[in-house]
Amino acid sequence: MNQRIFLSPPHIGEAEAGFVAEAFESNWIAPLGPNVDAFEQELASYVGAQGAVALSSGTAAIHLALKLLGVSRGDFVFVSSLTFIASVNPVLYEGAEPVFIDADETTWNMSPRALQRALEDAKRAGKLPKAVIVVSLYGQSADMGAIAELCEHYGVPILEDAAESLGATYRGSASGTFGQFGIYSFNGNKIMTTSGGGMLVGQDLEALKLARFWATQSRDQALHYEHSQLGFNYRMSNVLAGIGRGQLQVLDSRIETRRAIFDRYAAAFSDTEGVSFMPEAAYGRSTRWLTAMTLDPKATGTTPEALVHALAEANIEARPVWKPMHLQPLLREYAYYPDLDIPLGSVSDQLFATGICLPSGSSLTLEQQNRVIDCIQSHLSDSHRLASMLAANGG
Ligand SMILES: *Cc1c(COP(=O)(O)O)cnc(C)c1O
Repeated sequence: MNQRIFLSPPHIGEAEAGFVAEAFESNWIAPLGPNVDAFEQELASYVGAQGAVALSSGTAAIHLALKLLGVSRGDFVFVSSLTFIASVNPVLYEGAEPVFIDADETTWNMSPRALQRALEDAKRAGKLPKAVIVVSLYGQSADMGAIAELCEHYGVPILEDAAESLGATYRGSASGTFGQFGIYSFNGNKIMTTSGGGMLVGQDLEALKLARFWATQSRDQALHYEHSQLGFNYRMSNVLAGIGRGQLQVLDSRIETRRAIFDRYAAAFSDTEGVSFMPEAAYGRSTRWLTAMTLDPKATGTTPEALVHALAEANIEARPVWKPMHLQPLLREYAYYPDLDIPLGSVSDQLFATGICLPSGSSLTLEQQNRVIDCIQSHLSDSHRLASMLAANGG
């Protein structure tokens, strides 16, 4: 049996073990310590933020950012619909109500048109959201200029969920640095990992200090344990921060590798009818964290689901594009603003129905990538033959 090919496995460089060993040698295993401070500073300087707080997950970072923005019970929070559930769960932790915003067809990220309609309606109803969570998907920044202009007009702060877009740029600046706060994730499948972790970034150092306080059980200054506020156990450990410091050193080269992987997939299917790839918006540079491909069902005779199964049989992991939040059983009761420029259904519904994410890890070898490409090609030619046969027989 062929060796398993994963969607996006961790890819460790040469420096990580050294930083971790340092933590062991100095017995600085317990939470916090020099690696945490250094990782925060190094990441903040990489993205060009004033400050950063290293946390146990990207989800924890979103949760604390929402608290900093004053989100609480009964508030509304707008969120991109085409995303991973972690963008939304913290809204529910605080008892607030999410309102989902569709994607734009050319960027796959939050549609400024749909956002504008939602903001207009909310203003009219006296229910402006406490925050807008803008997700930047699969390594590509959302259209932050257009979105920031709208949010500024209505006086609504932005939280950038850049969990998938660390290293991407929008007009030359780092994705994650356009809102009041931004967050990154170092989960195992992200472009860099600490095996699990996240980072909150922003320009307001006082606010970040408060987040740090909340993340360490809100311990007031006293000899004994004194608490006047609700706290969380959300800090990153010094050992894991060591992994992050090493990963940050190789991030730029990982981005180049992922972009090259995307280019090879795109070249392999450039002449295949009905196969397209997630476009790269002219306003920025994507990291191509995951290569996302779409299949026109009529032209290809197949679906993402069928292709995921065909790849699984060859021991290759692939996944459908995120199932939009407005279609999730957990979230059905909440409002949704589709992008009305699309005639049939909404953009995110359509991307879910046709989109698939291919193995994109930076450790993927050329040989492994060719295995994936061969498997897709053979599935497509089978499906195509079947579709033509059915058409010849009158459907
Ligand atoms: C991975 C991810 C998160 C959450 O990150 P964790 O570190 O796993 O908590 C949040 N939002 C998006 C869009 C993600 O892809």
